[in-house]
Amino acid sequence: MDGVGGVLALVVAAVAGAVVTGAILIARARRARRPLERALARTRDTLEAQERSVAEVREVRSLVLDSMDEGVLLLDPEGRRVFENAALARHLGAVPADAEHLLPLDLRDAVRRASADGELVEVEAETGAPSRWLRAAARPVGGDGTVLLVVRDVTEARRIDAIRRDFVANASHELKTPVASIRAAAETLHDGAIDDPDAAGRFTEQLEREALRLSRIISDLLDLSRLETGSELSELVALDGVVSEEVQRLEDDAGAAGITLDWQARDHPIVRGSARDLALMVRNLVDNAVRYTPGGGTVRVQVLQRDGQATVVVRDTGVGIPGRDLPRVFERFYRVDRARSRETGGTGLGLAIVRHVAENHGGVVSVQSEFGSGSTFEVSLPTAAS
Ligand code: ADP
Repeated sequence: MDGVGGVLALVVAAVAGAVVTGAILIARARRARRPLERALARTRDTLEAQERSVAEVREVRSLVLDSMDEGVLLLDPEGRRVFENAALARHLGAVPADAEHLLPLDLRDAVRRASADGELVEVEAETGAPSRWLRAAARPVGGDGTVLLVVRDVTEARRIDAIRRDFVANASHELKTPVASIRAAAETLHDGAIDDPDAAGRFTEQLEREALRLSRIISDLLDLSRLETGSELSELVALDGVVSEEVQRLEDDAGAAGITLDWQARDHPIVRGSARDLALMVRNLVDNAVRYTPGGGTVRVQVLQRDGQATVVVRDTGVGIPGRDLPRVFERFYRVDRARSRETGGTGLGLAIVRHVAENHGGVVSVQSEFGSGSTFEVSLPTAAS
């Protein structure tokens, strides 16, 4: 027993020693692992923070790019789509998978040239139905054939530009005519007509008439350009007072032309706005009615209030306006009968002035007419809050 017991005791002691040694080793190993774990945890935290900030940057980039009006498309050196923003599909109708599917064709060419030559290429191209105009810039980035395409819709800008160009051309033409006439009369007088009393009288009249026409055109152009920047809406204006004054101002002209001109105020609306501009508006409407009504005719002006709107109605029994011209009479320099307008001292700008004043006061102007039997112009403006 002693022998066996001794061996067992030795074994137990050895095992116990081994266990203790093992435990010590494990504890040491654990201690040794802790800094490694801490380092790994720190690395993981750093990576997570970096991922979060990359995601944030991406989100901000998408927000910024998607809130732009311009369409943006990034294409890699092989022409494959890498990135696009939301506006791109609006401008192109669809998002192309690569440069080969880019439409309109001018844009495809621009991208190809920018990628091959490494230079900025700008183009304008027409697209869609109804037609729209796009301006695109294909910009090489990084020098490896990558291209950033930025597309803008310039349809409205082109329309405004065309209107401006037309206006300048029309205004120049309108100004040139009386200037040419004044020069011709002056030259004729200078060349001897001044010594012939009859001819001198005729050419002096021509000088006066054309000078007056020139000053009317300039005055209307100045009014129009002032009105395009808005009206000063700082006064409380009694509309019937304005109408009464303007009708009185034109009574003599109407009488001389054999036209009955009268006015009537059913109500007495007050409008917030510019007395000067409202007077200009009424003057142009009544002046037109008198000029386009033959002798024996009637022009009636009415002021009334309905549904919170102050309304001025100018009705005449004059020559009327053909249906096809009605939508265009408020355009600058549009005339139905150029000769008649000229004969009666028209500038072609009166109704454009009327429309501007009405719109500046938050109102609208409309016209109804029957060719040959008369016209009715109606301006409705919001009344001032009491
Ligand atoms: P204009 O100086 O030539 O009268 P407006 O801008 O005042 O220019 O008017 C534009 C055109 O609308 C006129 O040339 C004329 O043909 C037509 N028009 C305007 N008012 C009347 C009206 N009361 N009756 C008939 N035609 C009118």
